[in-house]
Amino acid sequence: MDIHNILFVAVLLTAMGVFSRSALRLISYLKVGQPADRVSDLGARLRTTLVVGFGQSKILRDKTAGPIHAMIFWGFLILLFSAAEMILEGVHDGWSFNFLGPIYSVITILTDIFCALIMLGTMMSLWRRYVTKVKRLQVEAEKVEAGMILLTIFFIVTALFVQNGLRSHVVGADFSFAVRPLSGPVGGLLASILGDGASVVFHVAWWMHAVLILGFMNYLPFSKHLHVLTSIPNVFLGPLTPTNSLEKIDFEAEGAEKFGVVDIEDFTWKTLLDGYTCTHCGRCTSVCPANTTGKVLDPRGIIVAIHDRTMDKAPLILKQERGEQFTAEEQAVWDKKLIGDYVSPDALWACTTCGACMQECPVNIEHVPAIVGMRRSMVMMESQFNDESALLPDIYGNMETNSVPWGGFGQSDRAN
Ligand code: SF4
Ligand code: SF4
Repeated sequence: MDIHNILFVAVLLTAMGVFSRSALRLISYLKVGQPADRVSDLGARLRTTLVVGFGQSKILRDKTAGPIHAMIFWGFLILLFSAAEMILEGVHDGWSFNFLGPIYSVITILTDIFCALIMLGTMMSLWRRYVTKVKRLQVEAEKVEAGMILLTIFFIVTALFVQNGLRSHVVGADFSFAVRPLSGPVGGLLASILGDGASVVFHVAWWMHAVLILGFMNYLPFSKHLHVLTSIPNVFLGPLTPTNSLEKIDFEAEGAEKFGVVDIEDFTWKTLLDGYTCTHCGRCTSVCPANTTGKVLDPRGIIVAIHDRTMDKAPLILKQERGEQFTAEEQAVWDKKLIGDYVSPDALWACTTCGACMQECPVNIEHVPAIVGMRRSMVMMESQFNDESALLPDIYGNMETNSVPWGGFGQSDRAN
């Protein structure tokens, strides 16, 4: 091991340590949610994961953005080999998957192709976001972050492309099965122009690729791009029932005092995972009939609000469980309400429960159960009804007293 290897191992262990800490923190937040069985019917779950997750079937419904996103996603799967190779090469100079023979040839060809496609895909995404300004991508708060992420992906892939092109000219190891139809000629040209300087450029590209990948991995738990890690698990754990089917309330459950969702601890852990997984793509909002007819309902906003409340309140729930006192600021956050401070009641009432949002969501997020859960608590815990109900006879009161929406007669008179 030389100084380069020792330095890399130190960087790698630090990055893995910080990442593990962040991952455990996020998992502990999920545990504040209610239990949910999401592992039954493994066959159906695996099929859905293959089709929707790996096959990107929902993403590809959008004929413009779909292929761009799918290109980046599939490219990243292929580039996982390069990430693994980088780690092993960092520990031991000259290490590669060359021993896989023809399989390595296929991997290296695909790596070259996907590097080029991702470079193209990220440039096109930047163009759509900042030049043609596609409406559903214009979220002011995300303008800078989205651009930074796309540029980071571009530089990760470019650094990989350059080092792959130069590797056989700089590293004295056997790469006989490597086939690099695109980076090879570029590397050959660079090597002939740079001479001895090719080694410096190779190592700069290698470290740039390594540091950006490890940095990106540690940035994900704090960003909206957390979906890079949670999308596939979320699809696997998603619903197997029709998109807008709802769970019945068990009014007879022992000790049941709370009905519906008052705050995040009343959601299942899966709804909290949905919050982690939202890609902010806006597909749900673009197909929502309430939103497109001018109502305040924004299904993307609802999922983002659930995530925001989770990140605000879950640490406090854990703190309370440890018996620690809140600061004044924490108490103010604790006292906020999910419905009212994060989610508008009017938005909840505007939902028709049509399920179009769930049908379109590329990562199988479950909007309808979340919205109806909050509505149930408004009705059953707070006796809050929508404004339109004021125009109707007292249907809720009649339901409570007579078990029918019509007033004027009691249950004993119903058959008269
Ligand atoms: S279920 Fe509700 S939120 Fe979803 S698309 Fe229909 S109206 Fe919009
Ligand atoms: S909920 Fe789904 S469709 Fe809506 S913005 Fe998030 S990922 Fe996109």
